[in-house]
Amino acid sequence: MKKNDAAMVCLSGGQDSTTCLFWAKKQFKHVEATCFNYGQKHSLETEVAKRIASEANVPFHLLDVSLISQLDSNCSLTNSSIPMDEEKPENSYPNTFVPGRNMIFLTFAAILARSKNIFNLVAGVSEADFSGYPDCRDTFIRSLNVTLNLAMDEQFVIHTPLMNKDKSEVWELADQLNVFDLIKGQTLTCYNGILANGCGHCPACKLRKAGLEKYLARKQKQFQ
Ligand code: ZN
Repeated sequence: MKKNDAAMVCLSGGQDSTTCLFWAKKQFKHVEATCFNYGQKHSLETEVAKRIASEANVPFHLLDVSLISQLDSNCSLTNSSIPMDEEKPENSYPNTFVPGRNMIFLTFAAILARSKNIFNLVAGVSEADFSGYPDCRDTFIRSLNVTLNLAMDEQFVIHTPLMNKDKSEVWELADQLNVFDLIKGQTLTCYNGILANGCGHCPACKLRKAGLEKYLARKQKQFQ
């Protein structure tokens, strides 16, 4: 296998990373998926990711980085006693932000990928539908890419195919990749841990639903 033929996808089982998994399958001959247990309240996430990887017929790795949740107990995704911010507070991040999460995920994914001679990493981050998370920004991803290369003296490439896409465009990409139904019916985006269309009222569900409606309206217009 040539160095450029393989990719490691960070897969959470949500809409974005699942779209990235199928994007990667189109781009690379060999694809593997890594999922993380970071102490999230909803363990269903990792089961969903495993099921999707199996459906996509790619090797699946589950890494335990639950130490993150022990270091910071102020996050509502890992601490069930904290009510979740429904809106972004002024001048700060919503408490669904897990500090350092994407840095840890990509760093661990890179270490695992390197051991398998894989140097393409894929992450479903986006700064267009901005939830306010600093580790979803392109600047951070580029910076970490340089750091990983320096840290391991390798030439990793971090791919972020969704970076400039809003949610409606992520749905559009899923449709182009022929996985619209799979993503609509089998992914878990909801902060309350409910599959597919989710609870309907958490910020992640609202964003997903608004994006879907926007995409379907655009698609309908094209056929008129
Ligand atoms: Zn929800």
